[in-house]
Amino acid sequence: SRSWLLIKHFEGFPKHSDFKLVQRQLPEIKNGEVLLEAQFFSVDPYMRPYSQRSLKEGDLMMGTQVARITESKNPNFPVGGYVVSNSGWTTHSISNGAGLVPLLPEWPEKIPKSLALGTLGMPGLTAYFGLLDVCLMKNGETVLVNAAAGAVGSVVGQIAKIKGGKVVGCAGADDKVAYLKEIGFDEVFNYKTVPSLEEALKKASPNGYDCYFDNVGGEFSSIALLQMKMYGRIAVCGAISEYNDLETSKGPYVQFPLISKELRMEGFLVHRWIKRYDEGLKQLLAWILEGKLKYREHITNGFENLPAAFMGMLRGENTGKAIITV
Ligand code: NDP
Repeated sequence: SRSWLLIKHFEGFPKHSDFKLVQRQLPEIKNGEVLLEAQFFSVDPYMRPYSQRSLKEGDLMMGTQVARITESKNPNFPVGGYVVSNSGWTTHSISNGAGLVPLLPEWPEKIPKSLALGTLGMPGLTAYFGLLDVCLMKNGETVLVNAAAGAVGSVVGQIAKIKGGKVVGCAGADDKVAYLKEIGFDEVFNYKTVPSLEEALKKASPNGYDCYFDNVGGEFSSIALLQMKMYGRIAVCGAISEYNDLETSKGPYVQFPLISKELRMEGFLVHRWIKRYDEGLKQLLAWILEGKLKYREHITNGFENLPAAFMGMLRGENTGKAIITV
């Protein structure tokens, strides 16, 4: 197998020299085991903070893939099946079946299997449960989402439309803003080029926001919290603006807006709803098949380009889910 190791813990923004490509020889599979061949890799923001915390220098880089079972001595996972697996950045791996998640049995032929890493996988579920169970978004409400053209954000905005809301989204490039319009967002802007974020948020929704789905954190949140309506709800999903910081940020300061507007702010990890994943995936698939939920993937070809694709995603090169084909 070919594998990418993390040979140096990140200092600030990741560098190519933090990774090393190696060849490894895998043993024969034993009873109960399967051999997995990676088809698609996902690069996700969490890998930046989590690899730092849970990997040692020299470890296999962490990550999720859609894999095909090419050999099997485990009756639960026959040859030819597709699974989502946390095997890390490696083209082939051996598993005893623990933690392997088969794709939905009703997976339609016309839907790319890579979607199991995006809209029909962890990011889609994050959007679904974060918006409906943490923001408690209701018909007629106004929703703000940032990193809106990304894997999670683009699904958040579309679910909010399906549920009868008004959606304001922002992203860091004009072509992303155009894409958000295309998929039904009501108000969109490029947060990098607006003269004032505060003014842009006020203009997009003069009466403020009922729900704020936060993927970005930091300075953005300090400003957005002041634009909430009374009793607004904030789902703290991610803080990508801070992941590459060398020092932990001191803001945003939340007390004044939380008190004066009686806001509810809640952080969450999608795993909280693991027992309801099936419900979420079935609903997301139904919306896709009804044409209500659109998806886009930002595809990088070649296993050797995994580090570049990871860094590109952190830099904002992706519209939709960042995927790597082997
Ligand atoms: P995306 O597909 O949205 O890719 C990351 C995007 O973040 C980039 O495209 C870029 O878009 C934006 N970005 C990068 N740097 C900054 C910055 N300094 N300020 C503002 N935006 C920035 O990733 P995901 O959809 O997979 O993840 C989105 C967020 O959700 C992340 O924070 C992630 O950690 C979080 N998450 C949380 C989960 C949970 O369980 N709580 C589960 C999954 C994801 P742009 O051009 O707009 O800047």
